[in-house]
Amino acid sequence: MADISTKTLSLDEVKALAKAVLVSSGMDERGSDTLSHLVMLSERDGPRSHGLRMLPVYAQSFSSGYANPAASPTITRMAPGVLRGDGDNGYYQIAAEQAREELIAMARENGIAAFSCANCHHLAALRFDTEPLAQAGLVALAVVNSLSMVVPQGGVRPVFGTNPMSFACPREGAEPIVWDQASSVVALMDVKMAAAEGHELPRVGGLDPSGAPSTDPNAILETRSLLPFGEHKGAAIALLIEVLGAALAGGTLSVDNADREAHGALNIKGGSTLIAIDPTKFGNPAFGDFVTRICAEIEGNGTARVPGDGRLSKRAAAAGEGVTVSTELLAQLDQLRQS
Ligand code: NDP
Repeated sequence: MADISTKTLSLDEVKALAKAVLVSSGMDERGSDTLSHLVMLSERDGPRSHGLRMLPVYAQSFSSGYANPAASPTITRMAPGVLRGDGDNGYYQIAAEQAREELIAMARENGIAAFSCANCHHLAALRFDTEPLAQAGLVALAVVNSLSMVVPQGGVRPVFGTNPMSFACPREGAEPIVWDQASSVVALMDVKMAAAEGHELPRVGGLDPSGAPSTDPNAILETRSLLPFGEHKGAAIALLIEVLGAALAGGTLSVDNADREAHGALNIKGGSTLIAIDPTKFGNPAFGDFVTRICAEIEGNGTARVPGDGRLSKRAAAAGEGVTVSTELLAQLDQLRQS
């Protein structure tokens, strides 16, 4: 790994820095409050690839005129259990925040409800979309499609985005279960971060220019061809997400993001769906005990841990010690803040 000089920032400093960069990039109060909070959460819990490193991407999306820095989303109830969001060409998280209370109320009333959103930009880490629902006592499942860079099993060109999904579930006497994962072996931002930090990927994640599987982030960034996790199984999940995300919401299919390079590679306009389920409406009063039992079976099993629980130790460490950020990134953000 290259020798990287770093500085430690408190979580408050991370949020203030993010807010200053976003405001200086032209974003309004509401949007910059929402995104700076999420940048801080990503630095705190992970994935750090969606934390401060996302700010230059956000700034570019505003300076190019591609994303709306003052979005005013519209949320419409389409059916008793269906909410539809129009993000007003702004970032997804602003629409999601606006829809959350109504979605929770609908799920409690109907047992299940969904929020689909289009005309919006990059969602970043899905875990922050599902965790608030689990904190409200609901089970949540979220998907979003993104721009094509994942090759289907046996295919020769990318069709799917890195299409992540997230699951969250309340857990009695503990923080909720929350995991989120890309459909690719590795998320694009992690490939970029490995390239910036000068190290190989921990496992084969994509194809090099000769078409061979590779751990070299720079070679993979040249082809932008990532491998699905679990071969055909990951590719099948990516397909599911194209349908539940782009097709249901009316967002852009991953393969149709033709002009992506013009605006910054992450500023896509896919579609997302967030499903909220009220377990108290399904007739098993011992739902919570079942979840506790499954978790106990995982935790008492060699070195296995409940997926996503790694975020809780990162959260505790970051709250106490802050987070280390490369000085090269801080210099870049400082320039953006002053521009
Ligand atoms: P990882 O492979 O790093 O982790 C996937 C999940 O598994 C996490 O919840 C992680 O939580 C958990 N996990 C990791 N190791 C273990 C283990 N040993 N045992 C049990 N659980 C484990 O994530 P990805 O690279 O697939 O995705 C990174 C992020 O990028 C996600 O937040 C995703 O939402 C986001 N993303 C966003 C996209 C977008 O377009 N908006 C596109 C693609 C990805 P933990 O380690 O904390 O326990």
